[in-house]
Amino acid sequence: MVGLVVVSHSATLAQGVRELAEQMVQGQVPIAIAGGIDDPEQPIGTDPMKVMAAIESVYSDDGVLVLMDLGSALLSAEMALEFLPEDQQLNIRLCAAPLVEGTMAAAVQAMVGGSLAQVLTEAEGALAVKAEQLNLPVPQVAGTQIPPTAAAAPTDEKPEEISLTVNNKMGLHARPAANFVQTASKFQAEIAVRKNGKTANAKSINQVATLGVRQGETILVTAVGPDSSQAIAAIQQLAAENFGEAEDDSVPEPVVETAVTQPAEPGQLQGVAASPGIALGPVLQYRPKLPTVVREEGRVPEAEWQRLQTAVQTTLTDLKTLQQQTAQQAGSAEAAIFEAHQLIVQDPDLQTAVQTMLEAEKINAEAAWQKAIEQTAQRFLNLDDPYFQARAADVRDVGNRVLRHLLGVSMPSLAAERPYILVAADLTPSDTARLDAELVLGICTELGGATAHSAILARALGIPAVVGAGSQLADVADGQLLGVDGRTGQIWLDPNETQSAELQAAREAWQAEQQAAKAASQAIAETADGVRIEVAANIGGPNDVDVALSYGAEGVGLFRTEFLFLDRQEAPSEAEQLAAYQQVVAGLQQRPLIIRTLDVGGDKPLPYLDLGEEENPFLGWRGIRFCLDMPEIFLPQLRAILQASVLADGTPANVKLMFPMIGTLDELRRAKAMLQTAREQLLAEGKLFDPNMAVGMMIELPSTVAIADLLATEVDFFSIGTNDLTQYVMAADRGNANVAELAQAFQPAVLRMIQQTAVAAQNANIWVGMCGELASNPLATPLLLGLGLTELSMAAPSIPAVKTALRRWSLPEAEALAAEVLGLDSVTAVQSYLEAARK
Ligand code: PEP
Ligand code: MG
Repeated sequence: MVGLVVVSHSATLAQGVRELAEQMVQGQVPIAIAGGIDDPEQPIGTDPMKVMAAIESVYSDDGVLVLMDLGSALLSAEMALEFLPEDQQLNIRLCAAPLVEGTMAAAVQAMVGGSLAQVLTEAEGALAVKAEQLNLPVPQVAGTQIPPTAAAAPTDEKPEEISLTVNNKMGLHARPAANFVQTASKFQAEIAVRKNGKTANAKSINQVATLGVRQGETILVTAVGPDSSQAIAAIQQLAAENFGEAEDDSVPEPVVETAVTQPAEPGQLQGVAASPGIALGPVLQYRPKLPTVVREEGRVPEAEWQRLQTAVQTTLTDLKTLQQQTAQQAGSAEAAIFEAHQLIVQDPDLQTAVQTMLEAEKINAEAAWQKAIEQTAQRFLNLDDPYFQARAADVRDVGNRVLRHLLGVSMPSLAAERPYILVAADLTPSDTARLDAELVLGICTELGGATAHSAILARALGIPAVVGAGSQLADVADGQLLGVDGRTGQIWLDPNETQSAELQAAREAWQAEQQAAKAASQAIAETADGVRIEVAANIGGPNDVDVALSYGAEGVGLFRTEFLFLDRQEAPSEAEQLAAYQQVVAGLQQRPLIIRTLDVGGDKPLPYLDLGEEENPFLGWRGIRFCLDMPEIFLPQLRAILQASVLADGTPANVKLMFPMIGTLDELRRAKAMLQTAREQLLAEGKLFDPNMAVGMMIELPSTVAIADLLATEVDFFSIGTNDLTQYVMAADRGNANVAELAQAFQPAVLRMIQQTAVAAQNANIWVGMCGELASNPLATPLLLGLGLTELSMAAPSIPAVKTALRRWSLPEAEALAAEVLGLDSVTAVQSYLEAARK
């Protein structure tokens, strides 16, 4: 191990620096000091002989690094070096790093087994952290770097190291960086990641992302700790899987960054083309403001910390809901940004910074949090790559979300009576995820680049957008007409009649193009040998129907009715529900619709329905368990669904009803009995419904797979919910990043459950489909086909790819593939097999 020598004019200072470093590395690194001179009258000074003795006391063939304060300390060190034998001199380095920071960084690096060169590089880059925190230019010394924040735990373990090349199109950007941090966080080992002499704590999303790793660059990952080999193996595996990002995942298109130029003509602005399409309409200015955060001193750190933690927890719940909603609207790849937001909000680096501020300055949580967020955002802004700079907006977005909870202020509304063009200074991903694609014709922002996540979401939602158009947008009045070309970045302020007509014509042409592109996905899905498989969409409410159809949905295989119950003060009435269900029926125009009864509890709490605090909400009072105990909630819903099952003239509307979270035959029978009660009530009231409405259930508990043969005789269909089925089969919380590897639907155990379900359904002559996330993965399509599923329901944006996959397989081919896959013994084996078989 490399030894360290601290040379200072003051014995006390040298001693103090050693003490600090030893505390950091728990005495594991040999550190000697040479402080002051032996003159009681004049103790301040440096002595070459003392320096030499110190070097000798820690010398080994691994080398010694000498750190000095200033002036004569350097001379003394140089002289000491000359006194030593020449072969030893080659193993000693004098270091220009600042004494305190350099010694700390060198000690940590020495402890993790770094070579003399690595220890020197770490020490020399030690000022980078301070400079970045203070937002100053990072000092140009060889090997500038940020040392890992977490002081490595004392350990005798040998460091494990691996060098990886990042092939992702946009480098280690938010999504792959999040996957990297999630993987690293599963291990106890201290894991550092380095690029060009910069080092980051692999468990901190902010540090990993601010390394700014781009495509083609190589990173060095070092792990020290009891499970370091497993950690390195898992990271290597992740890298082999492209850091969890499919090659063709919708990473931001390389949209040309157009600098804001002088408007080509008066009355026009030029911004950055961020989402293609043309829009013309009245302006709605969106200018949300947070109250100014006032710094207050004299606060109790523990109480402020507690307040912050509560706000962070509430924010995490918001982000999970937002992730689910965005996955519905725009697909899970786009929704993954909110997973990265969850990591940012829990980042150990950020949390430690705030805790330190609270303790040292006794200030209010709002002030400390805001400062820490701003420092983190600045670190992103200091990077020279525009894509990584754009991540500052994500940090501020999450930061403001927490601040809103701390300050008790809610997000301003985006509702309006007629379609509009949204004008804002900047849009956060959270703002964009709330947009109603029906209402928002276009988006124009003063700031932002085409790679911001708000731009990515706008593209996924199909809303034309121009960003970075400059501050003149702030002067545009609400209601003023605006034209936007999201392909060229042009904006027309108050276009005249001719311009409006041209824009309108261009909009229509663009819409026609869109329609044609989607037409291919409109054709029905059938296999290469002509077997019809229904490809349907999962929706959360009436607003999602048009989007679903535009992606080629042949119906709705899962209407998650809980979204009607969220974001309100009380449960929706029967009439309100009926109206929503009828709206969906009308939108689907006789296409099949499966309405799932309320599935609250677990990760979907409802503030106004007191579900109580539960230790294990996923194993608690959720879904059908709750509904069976709450007829006052359940019966109105069943009545509403029944009434929606017929059109106004009483003819069947192609509606099916599905129960979630059934675990036993008894529960199913009780749910059906409640449905029968609803039927009888409606009959007595003379209200119409479809007496033959199909009734099915979700297969999402392992218990139901075990008794699928019994259940199959009581229902008309099964729909497999792999999200819950996987978490219950694998005993791995679907939202817990630490067990994400277990919670994968490609686990052989889960695949066998799917097969058993399909066999039971076939034996009982009922059909079986799937509405869990696995259905949206085109890699799984031939497998599910081969297992005998005849309906697949998914987030709408996945439909075209799944239809394409279906068309490439014949049923016998898919059956042969399924038989092979069922014989495989791991997720990796299954995935590799399916990858290799992909047509
Ligand atoms: C499932 O569990 O797979 C499912 C589709 O239901 P949800 O995701 O709504 O729990
Ligand atoms: Mg479920």
